[in-house]
Amino acid sequence: MTEEIERTCCIDKGLQNLGNTCFLNSTLQNLLRLTTFRNELIKHTDFIESSQNSGVNPDYPITRAFVDLLIHMQSPSPRVLSPANLRRSFIRKHRTFANFKQQDAHEFLTLLLDALSEEHGKHLKTVSNDEESSKTRKTTVIDDTFGGAMQTTVLCTQCGTAYVNTATFTALELPIPNEADELDSDQVDDEQTQHCVQGLKLGVHRDYESLHRLATLEGCLARYTYPETLRGTGYRCDYCTLSDLLDRAKANMPAEKAAQLVPIIERAMDTIRAASEGHRAFTEHEMTEISRLVKNTRFPNTPTVVKASALTAEAMKPVLVLQLNRFMSKGRRLRKNDRSVQFPTTLDLSAYCQPGARAHVAYQLRGAIIHSGSMGGGHYTAVVQGKGGGWHNYSDSSVQTDVGDRLESFRPYVLFYERV
Ligand SMILES: [Zn+2]
Repeated sequence: MTEEIERTCCIDKGLQNLGNTCFLNSTLQNLLRLTTFRNELIKHTDFIESSQNSGVNPDYPITRAFVDLLIHMQSPSPRVLSPANLRRSFIRKHRTFANFKQQDAHEFLTLLLDALSEEHGKHLKTVSNDEESSKTRKTTVIDDTFGGAMQTTVLCTQCGTAYVNTATFTALELPIPNEADELDSDQVDDEQTQHCVQGLKLGVHRDYESLHRLATLEGCLARYTYPETLRGTGYRCDYCTLSDLLDRAKANMPAEKAAQLVPIIERAMDTIRAASEGHRAFTEHEMTEISRLVKNTRFPNTPTVVKASALTAEAMKPVLVLQLNRFMSKGRRLRKNDRSVQFPTTLDLSAYCQPGARAHVAYQLRGAIIHSGSMGGGHYTAVVQGKGGGWHNYSDSSVQTDVGDRLESFRPYVLFYERV
């Protein structure tokens, strides 16, 4: 069965529209044609084979339907495939997709990847019960293929403490900046912000050049990762809180109680400082102690914080999915931002990664989900690179080949890049 998938070329087939299912078709056309995803799937032969052989009541119904489509994409006929099996398995899990109304392609993509990951996770658990657990994998094919990690640093400008948080993601959701979001000088020139950024305490590069190229994908990424000064957010800095608590303990507490509490507060403050300077992470015990100390303490004031994000180069996976946030709520209504955003076919992410990364982080565009029309009555299509490098446009069952010369005219909603 894996050999069937290994004949890597997907034929330029359309997918039947089952009734407003263009959101599903445009997503599948992109996913099915990602070489690295297909290769990662093949690595997990036991999983896909058990999904294939699990009979009438399969354990992994969504994977099974997906792999079936993948196999049928290789054979010359029929020229149009039906995604009905996949839809059926999917709506059994997500009833809100059971009506034949237009749905959000990005939401479908997210839920589909989650479902595939969940089924693989279930399979890995079954295997680890059978074998020695040290030999078994813990990450799913989705974990290994999509997304990466983003480090977000929040820096308190009052005491200079940095709080670092790293989170993994499957896809990045990027706001599209417009002229109204022009950076005002206060945002970038604030002396304290400059000090923090120059000291690289925030662990980010700055893509100066792209910062003002708003209508480009690089501009969206530059804005997304750019240090931002936030005032009056109610952010609570644990170091400032403890410092305040220390002052009050020394000034107001009975000597005996202060003698007990002061060393504990000072130790907690040292711990936060050491973590802030990157010397070490908190132990669980220290975390508990800090939480206990600051829990019922009045926060002295609301400090101004600088917040910035950077990708972790070493954690970037083979497929990068970028969603341009085109749908936004205005009052009670959803509105579409139809702004044109230029997207490169080769994307270098180094400028948005933490400085000092050794890994080369370059990606090649493989496809996009395009949304045209208005919020309610729009239509989704897929523009995807074929085996020979040409670009084809898939609109449900119809396929328009060689649209590469007008690639720039498409307004992408979700972009799929593969690492090179
Ligand atoms: Zn602080």
